[in-house]
Amino acid sequence: MFVDAHCHLDWFRNPSAVVSAAEMAGVGRIVSNSTDLKSMRINLYLAKEFEIVSAAGGIHPKDMLFMDEKEIEKEIEFLKKNLDSFVAVGEVGLDYKHAKTKGQKEFQEKYLREFISIAMENKKPLIVHSRYSDEAVLKILETNSPEKVLMHWFNNKKESIKTALDSGYFISVGPIILSDKKSAELTKQIPPESLLLETDAPVEFGGKAAEPSWISKVAEKVAEIHGISTGEIGEITSKNALELFSQE
Ligand SMILES: [Zn+2]
Repeated sequence: MFVDAHCHLDWFRNPSAVVSAAEMAGVGRIVSNSTDLKSMRINLYLAKEFEIVSAAGGIHPKDMLFMDEKEIEKEIEFLKKNLDSFVAVGEVGLDYKHAKTKGQKEFQEKYLREFISIAMENKKPLIVHSRYSDEAVLKILETNSPEKVLMHWFNNKKESIKTALDSGYFISVGPIILSDKKSAELTKQIPPESLLLETDAPVEFGGKAAEPSWISKVAEKVAEIHGISTGEIGEITSKNALELFSQE
């Protein structure tokens, strides 16, 4: 069995077909991440509708840049009210591809801190986005020290990977490792005990929209990189997911 620890099922036109295809490919759990209020509502619905789907609730740092504080507070209230139905707070974080000015960066940082405290108060894991902002994200995490963290698509410098691993965070890798040598090389640095698998579907890789069913291909590649069997990778990463998302 495989777990897709990070995708966006709510972005698919026909999530039912996507879930069925994933089941056929041996996926036993899909964690669908939210990007805003509408996304949180759809993911909660999908989690109710499909046995293997779990919802994570949060606001994506990119989407946040198009909202005012009042809107964000309203969406955070929804998250807090429905926390029992979410397995994690995500996807949240920083995105310096989109936040260019000091003001925009501080805006994202302020809410990342808020999401961290919501997660910690409610013993929920955090699913963290850190595009071009790995050092800033790690610094904020370090000062707040949440226990359960998944660094999603943490395609970064070796030093940042080491810092994340030293802090006990999980790191998820996705379809990029199928075609990008540097990402595959970095995956070697992450021991299977700290790894989770993801697709970030329907984000495109090689001109095609990813699907959670691709997880088996990602698992095969990770297995090849670590020189162990795909079955073992499935087993270890699923165990990691269970540990991360367990609600104790
Ligand atoms: Zn994502």
